[in-house]
Amino acid sequence: MSLLLVTDLDNTLVGDDDGTAKLNQWLSDAREQVYLAYSTGRSYDSARHLMAERSLLEPDYWITAVGTEIYTQKSLDPTWAKQLSTDWDRKAVASMAEGFKALERQPEPDQGRWKVSFYLENLAEAPALEDLQAQLNTAGLSAQVIFSGSRDVDIVPAAGNKGNATTYLREHLSIKPEETLVCGDSGNDISLYQQQERGVIVGNALPELLSWYEQQGQPHHYLARATYAWGILEGLAYFQFLRHL
Ligand SMILES: [Mg+2]
Repeated sequence: MSLLLVTDLDNTLVGDDDGTAKLNQWLSDAREQVYLAYSTGRSYDSARHLMAERSLLEPDYWITAVGTEIYTQKSLDPTWAKQLSTDWDRKAVASMAEGFKALERQPEPDQGRWKVSFYLENLAEAPALEDLQAQLNTAGLSAQVIFSGSRDVDIVPAAGNKGNATTYLREHLSIKPEETLVCGDSGNDISLYQQQERGVIVGNALPELLSWYEQQGQPHHYLARATYAWGILEGLAYFQFLRHL
């Protein structure tokens, strides 16, 4: 049996160094049976920087910029890039979002080819995000607004989120959903749980993900008690991946 492990980085794999080390050790032992993918809101460069800084293992795949880019080693997956480019009008999307006073544009390194990013400066203005999504839909722009970390607002192609990227990768590898575990802690991880893969939510998850889980969680999802990478290990045990590998 093999396993595809898809994990978010900040506040999931990374956050408790002892937990990260313990998980790394297990992964190193099981490495030949595990496909490892990191799934993050960060850009590829920023994610690689974090990997070096926190002594993370080199993964087989990178799902970066909130699922809009997939890298195998150091190359961007051209098929995924082509799929997301269909119907993606970045300029029109950015200009519509700039009309919202509640949003402040993030600095250039955090922008992506398929991702326009803003900060929501005041949580009380969160309803504006629904207005923005409605306006995008009305204008016929194929885009989705993703809110995460109580502050980050990413607007990406309708087909491009972490969950869709994971399913694309899983199918490419011919791995079954029940042989795949996704792990996350925040709003931009919600799409990971909207597919058929097994999913663990770490114990330190933010209210935006917990409230989704309370309303829409499925039997193939598990809310861990343990936090950060310890929560991933708890999920691996819950779904009996530790025993089978
Ligand atoms: Mg996170």
